[in-house]
Amino acid sequence: MAHDKILLVTGGSRGIGAAVVERAAIDGYRICINYQRNRAAAEAVQARVAACGGEAMIHAADVADEAAVVAMFAAIDQRFGPLTHLVNNAAVLETQMRVADMDAARLQRVLACNVIGSFLCCREAIRRMSIRHGGAGGVIVNVSSAAARLGSAGEYVDYAASKGAIDTLTTGLAKEVGPEGIRVNAVRPAFIETAMHASGGEPGRVARIAPQLPMGRGGQPAEVAATIVWLLSEAASYVCGAHVDMAGGL
Ligand code: NAP
Repeated sequence: MAHDKILLVTGGSRGIGAAVVERAAIDGYRICINYQRNRAAAEAVQARVAACGGEAMIHAADVADEAAVVAMFAAIDQRFGPLTHLVNNAAVLETQMRVADMDAARLQRVLACNVIGSFLCCREAIRRMSIRHGGAGGVIVNVSSAAARLGSAGEYVDYAASKGAIDTLTTGLAKEVGPEGIRVNAVRPAFIETAMHASGGEPGRVARIAPQLPMGRGGQPAEVAATIVWLLSEAASYVCGAHVDMAGGL
C-alpha cells in the first residue's frame, strides 16, 4: 500500500458521501470530492476539510460518462498522484413508481449512474492500484443498499436492482483483484437521513418507516461514514468481499 492515502469519493458533496469526506480528512486522506451539478455544495465540503487541516480537491463529473471519469482520474493523478482508495457512492433514484409504469429512459438513467458509473470508477481505480498494473494495492468500498435484498416494491425496484448489481460487482471484483492487493467491500445502508428521499418524491420517508424498524429510528450519514472509513482502513485488513448491512436491524 502506498504511504500517501489518496481517496476519491464519488458524490462526495452531499449526504453520505460528504460525511465520508469529512471523516476521512481527519484520518489524513487527501481527497477528491466528486459531484455532478451542485458546485456550491462541493465547495462547502472542501472548506470544512480545509478548516480541520485537511486537503481536498473538487471535481465535477457524471460518473456515467466514460470520458468524464477518465478525465477525473487524470486530474487526481496530476494533483495528488495515483489513487489508493475509492468510495463508489454516487447514485440516483427517481420518483416512486411501479415497474409497470417505468419507461426505458428512466431505467437507463438509473442503471447508467448507479451501475455503469461504479464499474467505470472501479476500472480506473484498478488500473492505478493493482500490483498487476504496477500499483501498490488499494481499497474499494461500494455503497450498495439494503434495497438490494428488500427489493423496494412499489417505490423503485429499478434502484433496488441497480444495488443488486453493485452487490454482485463487489463479490466478483473482490475475488478478481484480491490477488492483486485490492480489497473490495460493500456497505448496504437504508433509511439514512439525506436529501435522496426527496428525489423519490417523499422527503419524509425515513420518518414514515422508522417506527417499523427494529431500532425504531433512521440512520445518520455519519454512522454510515464511520463504517465506510473503517473498511478503507488497515483495521479492516482481512475484510474482503463483505456486504455490511446498516439498516436499523431490518
Ligand atoms: P444524496 O444525498 O442524494 O447525494 C447524492 C450525491 O451523488 C450528490 O453528491 C450528487 O451530486 C452525486 N451524484 C448524483 N448523480 C451523480 C452522477 N451521475 N455523477 C456524479 N455524482 C453524482 O445521496 P445519499 O443519500 O447520500 O446516498 C449516497 C449513497 O448511499 C448512494 O449510493 C445511495 O444509493 C446510498 N444509499 C442511501 C440511502 C439513504 O437512505 N439515503 C440508503 C441506502 C443506500 P450533485 O448534488 O452535484 O448532483
